[in-house]
Amino acid sequence: MTKPYGEREIWFCTGSQDLYGEDTLRQVAEQSRRIAAQLDVSAAVPAKVVWKPVLKDRDSIHRMALEATADERCIGVVAWMHTFSPAKMWIAGLGALDVPLLHLHTQADVALPWSTIDMDFMNLNQAAHGDREFAYVQTRMGVRRTTVAGHVSSETVQRRVGSWVRAAAGWDAVRSLRLVRFGDNMRNVAVTEGDKTEAEIRLGVSVNTWGVNDLVEAVEAVEDGAVDSLVAEYEDLYDVAPELRRGGDRHGSLRYGARQELALLTFLQGAGAGAFTTTFEDLGGLRQLPGLAVQRLMAAGYGFGAEGDWKTAILVRAAKVMGEGLPGGASLMEDYTYDLTPGEELILGAHMLEICPSLTTSRPSLQIHPLSIGGREDPVRLVFSADAGEGVVVAMSDMRERFRLTANAVDVVTPPAALPRLPVAHAVWRPRPDFATSAESWMLAGAAHHTVLSTQVGVEEFAILADIAGTELLVIDEETTTRGFADQVRWNAAYHRLAQGL
Ligand code: MN
Repeated sequence: MTKPYGEREIWFCTGSQDLYGEDTLRQVAEQSRRIAAQLDVSAAVPAKVVWKPVLKDRDSIHRMALEATADERCIGVVAWMHTFSPAKMWIAGLGALDVPLLHLHTQADVALPWSTIDMDFMNLNQAAHGDREFAYVQTRMGVRRTTVAGHVSSETVQRRVGSWVRAAAGWDAVRSLRLVRFGDNMRNVAVTEGDKTEAEIRLGVSVNTWGVNDLVEAVEAVEDGAVDSLVAEYEDLYDVAPELRRGGDRHGSLRYGARQELALLTFLQGAGAGAFTTTFEDLGGLRQLPGLAVQRLMAAGYGFGAEGDWKTAILVRAAKVMGEGLPGGASLMEDYTYDLTPGEELILGAHMLEICPSLTTSRPSLQIHPLSIGGREDPVRLVFSADAGEGVVVAMSDMRERFRLTANAVDVVTPPAALPRLPVAHAVWRPRPDFATSAESWMLAGAAHHTVLSTQVGVEEFAILADIAGTELLVIDEETTTRGFADQVRWNAAYHRLAQGL
């Protein structure tokens, strides 16, 4: 079966020890292979699950951890103590392991054979205490991990393992991410600022800036033939406004948009980058603010933040990777304006141009309109409404000694009426648990106006990602109250300052 993460692997590691004797250890190996295979064939688990020989001593555990950390295919390790595996044997290995860890607390079979159970069975099936011993050492060492309990035949267990795999893949992408900024942040904006060195220390992402005129040169170097083919692709995929079509009097603007897309793609590929930012305040020799080009690159999987917002660009890239192969999409989003009809409050999210068409299954229209800021030529852009469905919006704020993620579970809805005069792509959603609790909590958290909106993954994947990264996550969902949330913000501030050390 082809998995969304292709050649990426999860290593399935089983703990035991030598004193059980060959016969029992043979059964441990056979049964753990079966458990690993059940996860491997599950459609809910998006990466290959590779069974590893049973680990029975400190040296082999340490070696496995070093190999898992060094092997580029391995994005995470699942550990299960089928039998008792005295956990001091795991200390060196857990100390060396530098990929996400899932502690799977399971058993070979679902039901106990009550009428035939004997001491041999009891000795073979003792994860109930073997995993508790293993967990003690993980907690004692402060090992970040996700713990999932239950039989692997359960859909819930498979789904939760799948969420962890997605978060592990997101972490793998963030850690190796190179992010290109064209120009700096929008002048005087606070929340889009941040410590780029700290981001590399904490998250692994490398954030660097290029002059926008480096991009201008690339735009000018694009060949006409390549522009012709891309414009033909646009006409195939979108409802292109007549004035932009070949022969239309504004066709030149569309060609320039295509040129920007091709130049950005070449530039990012050349830099080995998976995310980027632009800013309308620093367009150098660019004739338009890139709109269509940015939308298309986000749809191809690139992270993006507007106005120099590199932190949101990281989140968009993480969401793209975590959502691989799932219906829905992920995009830069901005809380724009509200419908405050009592009891039916809605948030209309959009941006100047740059909303990713992965949020819609309808056919976007490709249009040109003036942009009231920036002072350049009118930019081309895709216009559509995001599909209805469950989603999550997530923001990242730099709180100086940590990066705070704030996530709000939302329900994207079909706009209550047509928006014939709105010339930008948009999404309309109802925040959980309700508008006032969501907005009050969001602002209490100091969460940004820029977010990623994902309709592919939810709070769970971002929560696991935050755990893996060891960064703060505040969640606003159906269980949130403003008072409880305010307490959590205070407690988190104390915790994170203490946990930081001196
Ligand atoms: Mn903005």
